[in-house]
Amino acid sequence: MCQNEVRTRYAPSPTGFVHIGNLRSALYEYLVAKANNGKFILRIEDTDQKRYVEGAVNVIYETLKIVGISHDEGPDIGGDYGPYMQSERKDLYLPYAEKLIENKKAYYCFCKEERLEDLRQEAEKKKIQFKYDRHCLHLSEEEIQRKLNAKEPYVIRQLMPDSGKTTYNDSVYGDITFDNDVLEDQILIKSDGFPTYNFANVIDDHLMKISHVVRGSEYITSTPKYVLLYNAFGWEPPIFVHLPLVVKQGGGKISKRSGDAYFSDLIESGYLPEAVVNFIVLLGWSSGTEQEFFTLSELEKVFDIKGIGKSPSTYDTDKLRWMNGEYIRKKTLDEFIAIASPWIDKALQRSYDKAKICAMIQKRVEVLSEIPDMISFLNDISTIDVNLYDNVKSKCNINEAKRILPIIRDKIMEMDVFNHDSIYIMFTSTAEKLGVKNGLVMWPVRIALSGMLVTPGGAVEIADILGKDEALRRIDLAIAQLVDIDA
Ligand code: GLU
Repeated sequence: MCQNEVRTRYAPSPTGFVHIGNLRSALYEYLVAKANNGKFILRIEDTDQKRYVEGAVNVIYETLKIVGISHDEGPDIGGDYGPYMQSERKDLYLPYAEKLIENKKAYYCFCKEERLEDLRQEAEKKKIQFKYDRHCLHLSEEEIQRKLNAKEPYVIRQLMPDSGKTTYNDSVYGDITFDNDVLEDQILIKSDGFPTYNFANVIDDHLMKISHVVRGSEYITSTPKYVLLYNAFGWEPPIFVHLPLVVKQGGGKISKRSGDAYFSDLIESGYLPEAVVNFIVLLGWSSGTEQEFFTLSELEKVFDIKGIGKSPSTYDTDKLRWMNGEYIRKKTLDEFIAIASPWIDKALQRSYDKAKICAMIQKRVEVLSEIPDMISFLNDISTIDVNLYDNVKSKCNINEAKRILPIIRDKIMEMDVFNHDSIYIMFTSTAEKLGVKNGLVMWPVRIALSGMLVTPGGAVEIADILGKDEALRRIDLAIAQLVDIDA
């Protein structure tokens, strides 16, 4: 590695799905690396065996692939600083913890879970924050050796300074200072021999020569402990870049329950990866220009840590929908057909020309999952609500519908060629002959063909998709229904 090379890492814990906040960290880390000709590393933090979820590592690979960010080093492709799966590095952490013990920056703790639980409850009763009482800090050398020989389970704790302050600089939030006496003697090595996240993270960031650590602001309060670890080893800490919170409209965290917390939820409900990426990048970062639409490769050039803001950013679902709609409209018809097809297939029991359906709906879809409801009338329609024929703008009402529909039915019967253009000409020439506006002809036909007030297309497009026979069948049904109505 050349000196000063920018090296960032995405260090997810494989606990299931990829949360939007987490994906934002991944994107920013990737972009910091790419904007500085650096390297982006994937490290899987799987030392918490209790939280491990089968298959979760694949979800991470899959997500990065869909998003379009590729790592330069990682468990699947290797690299000079591997292994990149923390469980495969398990044995390298203990010697570092032992070194800290030698230097009196850490100590063995043999306290049993029951004792710690009592302490926790006591703290809760007194309404004070639980802090380990350093019971084991005062064990004699002999006592420690005896316990180790007897294979008593132990953890290793970091010894925090009793007084003074720890300050670090954050690229987003500036200097951040904590009083040392609020810092708990956190566990570095657990009784199962695995390092904690807090310890492994520091060791690995150092060994992997990570230059920038980009992550959510929930880590701001842990970072002084990491800084003390770097100091204890005499290592230079990386540059810390903590990201602002992402909150829901109206406050609160985005959660699994709201159905939009995970990248996969969004993709499954019909958001396009490139729209989600664009949206997520703007949650806390701005280019300083008016530009709102960015492709990933544009971002790789313009992303700058200086554009990251401090204040919480709102996860505005309306904006996400709008942005997704814009991305849908940027697609060519063929591209749109490819992504809309599964949703159309899901909705339709009859076979219609997909290209025609897509041409009709592309202008109106914001999220692909809207498609089935939007086109379900193509399957069939139930009895029409005759009030739908009333429309001020086109001057239509039930009586006009009664008058116009039979005329159109006869015109359609006469047509040999039934396509978009010929249907349009038939409607407009009929309107002309009757001396009425086109709208007065098209309104009742559209209602008769769809049974709906709002449709994704007009009478011409709908008739064209339905075809001559089905259009005639529906108009006949509508006429029959109107015959019995005295308006
Ligand atoms: N494994 C941590 C997580 O998934 C990583 C946090 C960090 O980037 O340091 O939240």
